[in-house]
Amino acid sequence: MRRGTEEQPTNRFDSQSYTRIEEWMLPDEEENTKTQLIATHPKSIVNPVSSPDVPSNWSMNPYQGCEHGCPYCYARNSHEYWGYSAGVDFETKILYKANAAELLRKKLNSPSWKGEPIMLSGNTDCYQPIERKLMITRELLKVALEYRQPIGVITKNALVLRDLDLLTEMAKHNLIHVAISITSLDAALQRNLEPRASAPYKRLNTIKTLSSAGIPTLAMLAPMIPGLNSHELLPLMKAVSEAGALKSRYITVRLNGHLRDLFETWLDAHYPDKKSKVMNSIKHTHSGRVNAFRYGIRMSGTGREAETLRQAYAVGNKKYFKNKKMPAMSSEHFVKLNERQFDLFR
Ligand code: SF4
Repeated sequence: MRRGTEEQPTNRFDSQSYTRIEEWMLPDEEENTKTQLIATHPKSIVNPVSSPDVPSNWSMNPYQGCEHGCPYCYARNSHEYWGYSAGVDFETKILYKANAAELLRKKLNSPSWKGEPIMLSGNTDCYQPIERKLMITRELLKVALEYRQPIGVITKNALVLRDLDLLTEMAKHNLIHVAISITSLDAALQRNLEPRASAPYKRLNTIKTLSSAGIPTLAMLAPMIPGLNSHELLPLMKAVSEAGALKSRYITVRLNGHLRDLFETWLDAHYPDKKSKVMNSIKHTHSGRVNAFRYGIRMSGTGREAETLRQAYAVGNKKYFKNKKMPAMSSEHFVKLNERQFDLFR
């Protein structure tokens, strides 16, 4: 399977229900599953984050949709807002903000903006494969560096190393955190789970290279899926710590909206013998349901499975992160470009 999911659920916002006979099901499948790029020109790019369990008040997303194709991805449901399906569409119809750098500049110059850290991205991966060609994330980092604007990057792609020059410069002014998301050390599982993201060894090398360059790097061990990769929490913590990560966080999987069906189909295709155990374990983590919405517990879950993860994480922190600390990002050097230009002439 070339994509993370083979499903194409009907968009819940469609006014009529119908059976889709998609092009990608037809004989010329190779041609029809090609990624399509769709340029957008929105009015803003920096969005407030209202969720109290996300450690940032602002986020920006240069892309909608993600070619990495993880079947568990919570951003899949949001693809319906753009009129597409949460299934194969999410992985193949990639919307990009063509005017992203210009919008960021505008935001940073607005009188009310004080340089609070911005998460890049909050929704989809800002270093997904097409970024190699489009370089929108790179342009955003250039603007951020110019304004001394702090940025927290999160990605599953070693492509972030392309921008080592900018990230290194940002680190000198406490302007950058990079989170590398890694879910498994098992290459076969990772390939099935995140078909177009970087292999585990590449992500560990990425942590190593970033850390060696003085860039504060943390590891997002997310999601932990009970019965599938949750037994890897401690080995992952050890591996990322040895690679140089200063901190790790984990999140337990939750299957909101279409994710339940998409994930079940994915289990049928790859791990049919584990399907019922995994789905039951996920239910045990969220009070008998596979989805979870309540702030405070939706990321970690409740019950026996959740407690096992919590304890493993506590042990891992003591063992592998005892003397490590992420330095805080700083807005102290933030400056609006027009003010700086003014300074040059004073
Ligand atoms: S890399 Fe992140 S955004 Fe992309 S599909 Fe996977 S979980 Fe979703």
